[in-house]
Amino acid sequence: MAAPETPNDSAGPLVATVDLEKQFAGTKALKGVSAQFLRGEVHGLLGENGAGKSTLIKILTGVYAPSGGQILLEGRPVEINSPLDAHRLGFGAVYQDAELVHGFTVGENILLGNEPGGAFVSSGAIHEEARRILGEMGIELDVYRLASTLSAAETQLVTLATLFHRRYKLIVLDEPTARLSAHEVDILFGLIDRFRKQGVTLIYISHRLGEIRRICDRITILRGGRVSATLDHSEITEDRVTELMVAKSTEDLRIENDGFSTGDVVLDVENLSAGNLEPLSFRVRAGEVLGITGPVGGGMEQVARALGGITEHEGRIRIDGKPVTISSPYGSLRSGIAIIPEDRRRQALFPNLSLANNIALPMLENLSRLGLVREDRKSRYAEGIIKRLAVHPDLPALPVKFFSGGNQQKAVIGKWMGAKAKVYIFVEPTAGVDVGAIKEIYLTILELAKAGAAVVLVSSAAEEIMTLSETVMVVHDGQLVHHAPKAECSHDQLLTLSLGGRPKLAV
Ligand code: ADP
Ligand code: MG
Repeated sequence: MAAPETPNDSAGPLVATVDLEKQFAGTKALKGVSAQFLRGEVHGLLGENGAGKSTLIKILTGVYAPSGGQILLEGRPVEINSPLDAHRLGFGAVYQDAELVHGFTVGENILLGNEPGGAFVSSGAIHEEARRILGEMGIELDVYRLASTLSAAETQLVTLATLFHRRYKLIVLDEPTARLSAHEVDILFGLIDRFRKQGVTLIYISHRLGEIRRICDRITILRGGRVSATLDHSEITEDRVTELMVAKSTEDLRIENDGFSTGDVVLDVENLSAGNLEPLSFRVRAGEVLGITGPVGGGMEQVARALGGITEHEGRIRIDGKPVTISSPYGSLRSGIAIIPEDRRRQALFPNLSLANNIALPMLENLSRLGLVREDRKSRYAEGIIKRLAVHPDLPALPVKFFSGGNQQKAVIGKWMGAKAKVYIFVEPTAGVDVGAIKEIYLTILELAKAGAAVVLVSSAAEEIMTLSETVMVVHDGQLVHHAPKAECSHDQLLTLSLGGRPKLAV
């Protein structure tokens, strides 16, 4: 290993990984990743879902310990065994779903946030200092506001401020613009530029090639737990990136949707618009899986949010030919739509309730008679679902928060199976799910379709869309750019479309 020996060798990379490996129970997420992050550069990290991006940054920020390999800081090996270790080295991250301490003000979050028992000063002094920091960063925000009142964008900016004043050396941004407006993106990019000028190294994870080109000095592309390539700014082209991202041998899940749709249109959507989504129309027949893909934040999520009654929308929606009005999640459910959101922990499960109770929740009306819930019937019902979905561990009484992401996802799906919905909407159903559970989730989705439901699958994973869908739509920058049977589009073409490329379809 040719690591520079001199400490503070300003010519060498700030941080390097050498043959980094990470073995999880079912899978090897990193198979020897060697990458170099230079001082004062914005380094893009790209790769398809499951390529290992999150695992790599979680190792750098002390969330996971590596199973092999080394991390070098200024040429010297460092041990990062906890987030505190990472923090001491000056490595920090802002995750997409960045969270602050809700009961604290902006100022308290900036100064006290990560420092339990830190030096205590008066509230006035804390807020004065926070105001100074935000001023230095060029952010206008009332330091006395409670964190719980901040938008997603403001939360990210405040999280950045907590890193800014601690003079972090390496900051990871995980899909930071997914929930930001164009104006907010400009503010964020301005900040990134300031960090860069101060010599901070930024690792920027994104699927948006336009943004990557705009701010990244170099990028590293991961594929199947390995470095596929590192490119300089001038080498970043759509074709090159797509080619380097696409796995040559994708693991065969031996699942395919050969088409179960029958003639009857169940879901008929006309001129639906919501948020950044421009009006679009589509129909889903009984037994059909419609896959909607595109970059995260590009508008595909709005389809699910509108149909799930989470966001306001315009347009006409018919189910089984009858017009329905959806203005709330309850209204959506009453219309026959079950939505399995991505943010399942917060939106769909009660973490402290048992697995059985979570699963039986929507069924309690049917299972109770005269307001009494027959405990035995509830258990029998829930156990049936648990068996059918192979939820692990097979412990109905265990609070659902103790299950892994994949098994929580099964619990959410199980919860809606009994609801006998006409339309099922899945949003990123395998995000954060361990590989073992992916196949069962896929089989369950196809089973719902086979049983005659109309299924809408919203996913940023091209592979998943190709595996499960009968029909595919691509939404980019709020526009529908592709809508055709799956057979008319290859995996590579989908990826290109999702990255914002012009359609290169034969049709
Ligand atoms: P990316 O962020 O590029 O989408 P990840 O780093 O999240 O990829 O995942 C890489 C691989 O490791 C995937 O196959 C994923 O299923 C697996 N994986 C990630 N986290 C875990 C975990 N905690 N347990 C088991 N497998 C995991
Ligand atoms: Mg990830």
